[in-house]
Amino acid sequence: MRRTIRGTRVIGLLAAVLAGSGMAGAPGGMPPAAASTLAQVDTLTTPPNTADVGLDVRWGPSSPSDGTALAVFVRAAASGADGVEVSAELDGRPLRLGRLGDGWFGLAPLPADRPGDVELVVSAHAGGAEPFVQSWTVPVRPRTYSTTELSVAPRFSNPPPEVLRRIERERDLVRSTLRQVTPEWLIDGNFVRPRNTRITSPFGQKRLFNEDLQSRHWGVDLAGDVGTPVRVAGRGRVMIARELYYAGNAIYVSHGFGVFTGYYHLSEIDVTEGQIVERGQVIGKVGATGRVTGPHLHWSFFVDGERLDAGSALDFRVPEADAFLDSNPTP
Ligand SMILES: [Zn+2]
Repeated sequence: MRRTIRGTRVIGLLAAVLAGSGMAGAPGGMPPAAASTLAQVDTLTTPPNTADVGLDVRWGPSSPSDGTALAVFVRAAASGADGVEVSAELDGRPLRLGRLGDGWFGLAPLPADRPGDVELVVSAHAGGAEPFVQSWTVPVRPRTYSTTELSVAPRFSNPPPEVLRRIERERDLVRSTLRQVTPEWLIDGNFVRPRNTRITSPFGQKRLFNEDLQSRHWGVDLAGDVGTPVRVAGRGRVMIARELYYAGNAIYVSHGFGVFTGYYHLSEIDVTEGQIVERGQVIGKVGATGRVTGPHLHWSFFVDGERLDAGSALDFRVPEADAFLDSNPTP
């Protein structure tokens, strides 16, 4: 772990790496939280100064792989958050930190197929004080992706000319939706599984449809019979709730700051576009609409336009809106 400190106006700094998953007690009888663990703790103290900015920075999971999201927590320890400006970037890409409770929270994408070290930089300043800057090298583990062959209706492996414009229109709609950044966090607590069932097809799988069309699987498929409930993974706003050519009846939910989840192939949509949904709320029913080989839920996860493993949304803790401190116990 490399760190760089510029400026001396820092009272105390605690940098800890938050690892492990932290599913909250989920509505609807889903499994309770796994306890989070603090894998590493670094403490650094410099002489007191009244103009200091003391920061508590944590990120996790400690050992992420490509195709997942890195969660970053920042809290102004000494003087409170008022008047403190915090910013961050990962690998030179701005990381949106939004106020949550008495601190800041942000998610950064670690895109699929791009393992290796990335640099996390957190900066803060208050008033005219010397800015505080610290950086860490985050090692991103490579993952292996499986390969499979599938058979679907020919209209999905080789769509007829009359639907090509529709497909293009829908692709543009989804792209522009994922670019919309709600400038506040809508989430309230950890993400939960939309269905407490087994994964039938993993994220990132390399696919060959009808011995012809090569594709990647950018979601996680969860088992389910037609008509069984689908719950939204976190609080948010419904941005898309309509039938799409490949995704079938589909719902996209914005959780704030460019973070979205998607739910495809539904037999029934129980929400409308613009609606606020609460974590764990039933938003639709499992189906077999769109490009499928049978009924299941396809669950997707996006951060800053990048397609990530939805399962990784369960691998970090989201601070409760009014209990930031409690969610990050001091070791
Ligand atoms: Zn799928």
